[in-house]
Amino acid sequence: MIVMKFGGTSVANFEAITRAIFIIGGRLDKKPVVVVSALSKVTDLLYRISDAAASRNVAETKQLMNELRSRHVNLASDLLEQSPALRENAVGRVNAICDTLEELVNAVCAVGELSDRNKAIIISNGELLSSTIICFVMNAKGIRTNFIDARKMMITSNEYLKAEPDVNEIISRVPGMIDESFKGMDAVITQGFIGSNHSGEQTVLGRGGSDYSASLIGMAIDAERIEIWTDVDGVRSADPRKVENTKYLEKISFEEAAEMAHFGAKVLHPLTIEPAVKKNIPIYVLNSMNPSGKGTAILRNELIEDGVKSVSFKENIRVINIFSMKMINTSGFLRRVFEIFSESRVSVDLISTSEANISVTVDASEKIDKVVEQLSEFADVIVDDDKSQVSVIGKNIVRLNGMLKKTFAPLKRTNVYMISQGASFVNISFVVDREELTEVVKDLHYHLFEVEEELEQF
Ligand code: ADP
Ligand code: ASP
Ligand code: MG
Repeated sequence: MIVMKFGGTSVANFEAITRAIFIIGGRLDKKPVVVVSALSKVTDLLYRISDAAASRNVAETKQLMNELRSRHVNLASDLLEQSPALRENAVGRVNAICDTLEELVNAVCAVGELSDRNKAIIISNGELLSSTIICFVMNAKGIRTNFIDARKMMITSNEYLKAEPDVNEIISRVPGMIDESFKGMDAVITQGFIGSNHSGEQTVLGRGGSDYSASLIGMAIDAERIEIWTDVDGVRSADPRKVENTKYLEKISFEEAAEMAHFGAKVLHPLTIEPAVKKNIPIYVLNSMNPSGKGTAILRNELIEDGVKSVSFKENIRVINIFSMKMINTSGFLRRVFEIFSESRVSVDLISTSEANISVTVDASEKIDKVVEQLSEFADVIVDDDKSQVSVIGKNIVRLNGMLKKTFAPLKRTNVYMISQGASFVNISFVVDREELTEVVKDLHYHLFEVEEELEQF
């Protein structure tokens, strides 16, 4: 079996879905488990619906709900034009999903209060709608496809909006459900991103979480491979939206991919790699608009060469500086500091320490008020906003001769605030002012990837 995950842009509209189904049709001999995201921008729309309802904006809520409904109803009717019976059925299902959602949204609008629990239910609808439509269309095109409700097998913790998967429960449920669904079928389809807690309440895995769902399912069924179908020709040496001449990477290691995703490369959800590594399942990042391309293979460390692979960045981070004279010669100080971060579930990226100071970086989206308040009880705390984090990533780069010089030489005129070399030799990271980010990333990419290529041409 293989897992094939299609992201939002790969199922955005009539053409994209037609292409995706063509790609799936070419792999039926591999027994594909198809995992889909919501149609492009639909999860954002559902967030807007939640916000409008929570602020009791009746007119806006209604208008956005209509937008959601008509986009899906129109798409289902267009895609199933040739199969009137299926078309009627599909449009009926889409309307039923939208009706149930609308009831909840109206109730939220009436009270003007939105719990995380209800918000998770609202934003799960994108994946439910897309998978419903695509399942009908696959069947209409002759691919016998069964629908699996991911909420019955992707069991998670109780954090409704950023739930942690219960891996043991997933391993015990997924293979049986998938085997059962495959009986007499060519393919099965399920939703990325969504799941439910042990009491059956809906949860989601956090933004971009469909990659993570695909990888968890792949692990649970011992898939031969996990394919992540997206809108770029694989993983590249930097985000092509930021840097012009990015380089295509034919293969990278699990570790490199995990570091890239963790340090900002949006092409994969940061936790995607972990389940695949457990079973050593290769992940392929492929372009649904160019399906004959080779994509990027993410493989075992031993199969990958040393050397720099990528410049990744996190655009909006904060540096929290913690000063305390008490830190000098006091054991247990660092433990207390990190306990505070962990109790508030704030995740720390980079750390540097000196005798009386600790600096850490956190994503700007983390809620740090409580952390700062608790740290201030025993230390002076200064928070620097508007910073960005840049990471140079590649197998064993920290051990390569001259790598530090190569990394920092292009930054002559830039203030560099924190420098950290990962203990795993894969990562050199540092912090710069946010306004300098674009130039720093472009310069660095040029020096690490483009200069040598230019010289080779002479
Ligand atoms: P999907 O909807 O398929 O999950 P995403 O938008 O989440 O797609 O991820 C794909 C995008 O990731 C690409 O369009 C690209 O702009 C961005 N990206 C960021 N860093 C990289 C990188 N190093 N290589 C390739 N794409 C990257
Ligand atoms: N639809 C979800 C999101 O937009 C999950 C995903 O696409 O991976 O965040
Ligand atoms: Mg994504």
